[in-house]
Amino acid sequence: MIQLKIFTSACLLFISGLSYGQNEIKYQISFPNAVHHEAEIKIEIPQVPAGPITFRMSRSSPGRYATHEFGKNVYNVKAFNASGQTIKVTQVEGDVYRVNDHGGSAVITYTLFGNLIDGTYLGIDQTHAHINMPAALMWVKGMEDRKVILQFNDLEKYGWKVATQLSAVNTNTFSAANLQYLMDSPTELSNFKLSTWDDVNPDKTRQTIRVSVHSKDSQQIVEKFGKMVKRVVEEAKAVYTELPKFDFGTYTFLQDINAENDGDGMEHRNSTVIVETSPQLEGNEEDLLSTFSHEFFHAWNVERIRPKTLEPFNFEHANMSNELWFAEGFTQYYGELILKRAGYRSLDSYCNTLGNLANSVLNAPGATAFSAPQMSRYAVFADAGVAVDPTNSVNIFTSYYFYGATIALALDLRLRTEFNSSLDRYLQEVWKAHGKTEIPYTILDLQNVLAKTTNKAFADDFFSRYINGIEKNDYAKLLLKAGLVLRRASPEKASLGRLRLVSANGKVRLGMNTLIGSAAYQAGMDDGDFLLKINNDELKTPADLTTLLEKYKPGEEVELTFEHRNNLNTAKVKLQANNAFEVLPIEKTSVKLTPTMEKLRAAWLDSQIKK
Ligand SMILES: [Zn+2]
Repeated sequence: MIQLKIFTSACLLFISGLSYGQNEIKYQISFPNAVHHEAEIKIEIPQVPAGPITFRMSRSSPGRYATHEFGKNVYNVKAFNASGQTIKVTQVEGDVYRVNDHGGSAVITYTLFGNLIDGTYLGIDQTHAHINMPAALMWVKGMEDRKVILQFNDLEKYGWKVATQLSAVNTNTFSAANLQYLMDSPTELSNFKLSTWDDVNPDKTRQTIRVSVHSKDSQQIVEKFGKMVKRVVEEAKAVYTELPKFDFGTYTFLQDINAENDGDGMEHRNSTVIVETSPQLEGNEEDLLSTFSHEFFHAWNVERIRPKTLEPFNFEHANMSNELWFAEGFTQYYGELILKRAGYRSLDSYCNTLGNLANSVLNAPGATAFSAPQMSRYAVFADAGVAVDPTNSVNIFTSYYFYGATIALALDLRLRTEFNSSLDRYLQEVWKAHGKTEIPYTILDLQNVLAKTTNKAFADDFFSRYINGIEKNDYAKLLLKAGLVLRRASPEKASLGRLRLVSANGKVRLGMNTLIGSAAYQAGMDDGDFLLKINNDELKTPADLTTLLEKYKPGEEVELTFEHRNNLNTAKVKLQANNAFEVLPIEKTSVKLTPTMEKLRAAWLDSQIKK
């Protein structure tokens, strides 16, 4: 993100009053046809230099790492010159338009359609307008540094209020210092309910946290949930010892809860969009906290501790980053850890989380073959990227969320056991060097901060083997120090490897590529093939596979019969042992928890809030 000017809201009112008639760009958003998911957009552009101007829809959105074609939902594009006369609009690309003969100022209008409620797109109906700016607003090339005024019309008609990180000029008008900040400012227009509180930082700065909830819940339920979010915010603050200094002194959670939604969470500089698929808040509070925990951690890690590769946002093309294993992966690790520390997850539930992490990295062909930075770069395709052709992602990709979280887990336990330190303390140093200062970092910068927290030899070794390389730390050994056992859950069970099976007209069909190294892969079976028989036993439903494999032991040879595009094949393969991992507290095995283990576990997993 580029440097943003920070005003107090009083100061901004004053400035915007003065600036009337200057070169700021004004957007008006109206909703004459909300029920059919349409908005009308009007953009007033003063002081247009002579010559053509080019304006366009974005192809990427802050926090989403793949490209998205927002231009497809724009139509009726019109333009008017300084005298209010219609001028010709030329569409030069699918999402790029040009006008000439503007006479020094221009007005552009268009109709916008949006019917997807998530952290990237636009959703309009009579209950709300859930706006992610890149999905909604065209912008003028070469005018990215101009101040922007945004006016929302028809609020009274629908009974809507405005929840946003944008600075308020009045109840329906807001401002952004430039295009970068505008696009980073999702806005929810609805009859939401609000829970707010003030936080005081160690330097005595008072800031306001707002949770706006658009759902069918009562104010009382929203207030109760706000108290739970507050606890999560405080536990996150304890990691860094202070909250970031939010622009305009506020941070806003924009939560939308409806069974029709697409579940999502998207962090921004002073706000987060949280879209939940639950029918309501009540009864789902603890589950819903996980998105809050993850996204609020981003207020430090990614919004201010920011990789150079994401700077500034490129709205015409997705930024590719080497560092998402840190920006997303370490955030993933802390999102879960903070819920445990805050008392919203039991030890057993946290052990399940750790077991899932182990499975998604130690058993994943992508993580076996490729480094965490390389998996981060694949985000330009993987992060909700849309394509019609299949990929080999099960074999060449491992989520940088889990990959990075697993690296964070190893580093945390190694810092605790080898340096009497912790990942919290390392992050405090990263915060001081790159977050508070907002000096964007590279992987080498992270390595240098680790060298300061530990020593150069350790940092060089850790980064070259486990981050830039593909080696894995010894997780069983590290977890055992905290009295947690990492082991194979059912090594006695025979397996063909992890498969996705679907029913297809009384037959069993493979629903994804087979995994490199698995018996199914070695047999030559793949996505779309029908698995017909194991030895002489036929499969009719996906559940038959489990039943049939129970007849065998790992290491036994079987003959598989399968069909590929009407071709019948057979292959003899050796069955493997089920390789799924589990993590459990040592006291649930026959071994005792020692006081040393207990002490480490408590220092790591218990609340860090200083009483
Ligand atoms: Zn994230």
